[in-house]
Amino acid sequence: QLSDKLEGVFKNLRGQGKLSERNIKDAMTEVRLALLEADVDYSVARDFISSVRDEAMGEKVLKSVTPGQQIVKIFRDKLAELLGGDQAPLELTPPARILMVGLNGAGKTTTSAKLALRLKKEGRRPLLVACDLFRPAAIDQLETLAREIDVPVFTPDRDEKNVIKVAKQALKWAETQNGTVMIFDTAGRQEIDDALIRELEDLQKFLQAKEVLLVADSATGQQAVNVAKRFDEAVGISGIVLTKLDGDARGGAALSMRSVTGKPIKFSGVGEKIADFEAFVPDRLADRMLGMGDVVGLVEKAAEAVDEKDAMKMAERLASNQFDFNDFLQQMKFMKKLGPMENILGMLPGVGKKLKDINVDDGKMKRIEAIVLSMTPYERSRPEIINAKRRKRIAAGSGTNLTQVNQLLKQFSMMRKMMKNKGKMKGMMKQMGMGG
Ligand code: GDP
Ligand code: MG
Repeated sequence: QLSDKLEGVFKNLRGQGKLSERNIKDAMTEVRLALLEADVDYSVARDFISSVRDEAMGEKVLKSVTPGQQIVKIFRDKLAELLGGDQAPLELTPPARILMVGLNGAGKTTTSAKLALRLKKEGRRPLLVACDLFRPAAIDQLETLAREIDVPVFTPDRDEKNVIKVAKQALKWAETQNGTVMIFDTAGRQEIDDALIRELEDLQKFLQAKEVLLVADSATGQQAVNVAKRFDEAVGISGIVLTKLDGDARGGAALSMRSVTGKPIKFSGVGEKIADFEAFVPDRLADRMLGMGDVVGLVEKAAEAVDEKDAMKMAERLASNQFDFNDFLQQMKFMKKLGPMENILGMLPGVGKKLKDINVDDGKMKRIEAIVLSMTPYERSRPEIINAKRRKRIAAGSGTNLTQVNQLLKQFSMMRKMMKNKGKMKGMMKQMGMGG
């Protein structure tokens, strides 16, 4: 994993009080290798490393008190820059049309639905159009997804082969639908061929979509970059959606994609479910790659599921290590709404992908909740006052036993300590019943 490697190199650098040019050169060589191994384009990696090195070798850095930390910052900022700086918004002035293009299996149909749901949540009225006439089941697939998210969908006759005709019908249909943005799912191929390119050219000539989003599978690495170039030459893409970033992708494509094509990565797919879709925020990915976690993402996800004020409070207390059993209880409630524990934990600083193999034990979670619920609010805020007598009462009240109560209290106090030492997070989660 690229992020694991980078974390290692930078942990080393960060910890050093004094750095020589030699140290920096060695570190940069390691980083370059890690990038190449992650399938980053050779010239992209080379140029990137040399720009980091130039800045890192500067007098100001070498003579500062914390050279290691400064280099990490330089690297992080350059990485964010390479990934594209700010998040790139969609062009949605009317008539808002989004054309989804890409190879077979890249995730066009799934992403069309994901995007529709996202736009709907933003208060827009998306319409889906099935323009994949190449694969027989494609129309049904989009129809099913559209129904799931309750978005109107235009489906052509199953034997229609002329995509322009379909587009014309769809525009007519749209007049009766009161939509504000149309999303066109198109056909792909195993590889780019002339027939596909011609079809997309014709379609785009007719639709004049201001957004042509290339959907690319991040697992295909270097190949994805070449595909992006070809599609761009043919139909002029306005942005990229990187899918399957949840998988074992080496992540290099994301890094090369932007600088080779000059097109922004606008969104990323992070799972098979329709909600597994995120705006692509370069700064944040850079942080994640450096093992700094994605606290902003975590707060945003929480805010979606719960009251925003509560979520902010939770995040603050998490960050400052102040939480008590009241927070813990609320957190458990959040977690239930937030979905799979693994996803949430993966966003915490320093935890990342390490938790892949960990399963959440629901029964144990319920027992822990029962114990906490049997505490008085005062006990929850001051766990240290819970003496033997109180423990006995809590055990009886929660239908557990003294050993289990003792265990939780011990683990909780350990957890507070360990929040300061993220490296031990995995062990803690295991003990809390989330061990695999
Ligand atoms: P299309 O041929 O380009 O339309 O691709 P599909 O939308 O049919 O997706 C192909 C497969 O990839 C399906 O099994 C999707 O569930 C899966 N898929 C799409 N996006 C993602 C993603 O972000 N993460 C994961 N894990 N799977 C995805
Ligand atoms: Mg499809």
